[in-house]
Amino acid sequence: MPEVQMTEAEFEVYLAKARELSLFFREIGPKYDVDNTFAYPSIKAFKDSGLGALPVPKEFGGPGGSILHTSKIISELSKGDSAITLAYNMHFIMVGITMGLMSETQNKYWLGRVADGEIMFGPFSEQRAGFSGLADMKAVPQSEGGWRLYGKKTWGTLCEAADIITTNATITDADGNLPEDFQERVNAESFFIADFNVDEDGQGDGIRIEKTWDALGMHSTGTHVIHFDGLFVPEDGFICEWRSGAFGVLEWASLMFASIYLGMQYRVLEESRAVLSKKTLGATFGAIVAQDTKVATVGHIIDGIGDMASRVELSRRVLYQTCQDLIDGKDDEWPLELRFPYIGLAKTFIAENVMNMTRHAMSMVGGSSFRRGTIFERLYRDSAASMFQPLNSDQSRTYIGEVLLAPEQLND
Ligand SMILES: Cc1cc2nc3c(=O)[nH]c(=O)nc-3n(C[C@H](O)[C@H](O)[C@H](O)COP(=O)(O)OP(=O)(O)OC[C@H]3O[C@@H](n4cnc5c(N)ncnc54)[C@H](O)[C@@H]3O)c2cc1C
Repeated sequence: MPEVQMTEAEFEVYLAKARELSLFFREIGPKYDVDNTFAYPSIKAFKDSGLGALPVPKEFGGPGGSILHTSKIISELSKGDSAITLAYNMHFIMVGITMGLMSETQNKYWLGRVADGEIMFGPFSEQRAGFSGLADMKAVPQSEGGWRLYGKKTWGTLCEAADIITTNATITDADGNLPEDFQERVNAESFFIADFNVDEDGQGDGIRIEKTWDALGMHSTGTHVIHFDGLFVPEDGFICEWRSGAFGVLEWASLMFASIYLGMQYRVLEESRAVLSKKTLGATFGAIVAQDTKVATVGHIIDGIGDMASRVELSRRVLYQTCQDLIDGKDDEWPLELRFPYIGLAKTFIAENVMNMTRHAMSMVGGSSFRRGTIFERLYRDSAASMFQPLNSDQSRTYIGEVLLAPEQLND
């Protein structure tokens, strides 16, 4: 982890900006959920806020916010609107990942652009096998140097706002053949960065956006398909080998996703308290037979809100402590093979809790929460996305179990 360069006083200024932007996201969010499109007015607002530069180190023109600072900003924005924030989360993830892997010269150039307000995105997942599938996308070497990229990425969150693209592709021979040997193929999978120039219809030189995003939730992320039809990447757009590089810095993915869903937890608790502290059922006949039943006095509602608040507090502690452990270098004490899945536990823990909370909120608020347009049905749909972002709970447990069951580990 880079050293923390930002003081808490400096951070307060960014937090105040995040609170303001969060209110704007909260205001426009419902419209773009209904319209099922990217939240276009968020682009100028995000750029104007200057928040995108937060993790950029001071030597490259940013304020040098830490992973914990970035996490807090993302949760604050997500409390306003998780779908809009999930889009910009891809920017923070890719800034965090690239800055740990790029050369000094690349950092100066690309992070300098981020410090000036430009936005990055990162389409990696492909249709055959999401994030963990080795890239079928090809990087074909060119005789004049550099590569041309061919293939398609099916999850291009934030593409409608981005200026810079980061992606992975497998370097082929000059005729475009992928390595046949598995290990060679792993080694040839590479991490690239390039300009992302498309017109208002999403058409660029060797690259285009196909607007396909239509999902259960997270409507305004604009997670469209990106087609690479020979995008040219010059030699200095090569960052490193993808798998060996990324596994050392993937905390920027899992902990920033965790921050999204922690922000969503804050919102679920806020909205549930707002409704349940006031709701009166009047005369009831059922579990409670009474002249006038206020739901805030019903046992399972009191217990339910207490349960939600406990989950929020535990999730916050797990996330903040995991970020702090990384800052303090405590991850060095974990077995190397378990570093990534152990860091990822913060994400899987928060994901499971947020899905529990959105379901529980609906059952406590009652049937009105099921009607289209209520915040509760929205949160329920959006929270389901937390199942998929890497590592998911199943894969994390498999990963950990495999390592712990390997006979050679038993002596450790
Ligand atoms: C709202 C949203 C936005 C997203 N934005 C982006 C983005 O901007 N960029 C991006 O790159 N991706 C993005 N994704 C994609 C996402 O992170 C996953 O890569 C995608 O959902 C597909 O991967 P998967 O593992 O879910 O599915 P699959 O890879 O199809 O997996 C199918 C099943 O196999 C299991 N599995 C997969 N691989 C392994 C393995 N190696 N070992 C054991 N089990 C395995 C899975 O757990 C699952 O049960 C986004 C997803 C969502 C929901």
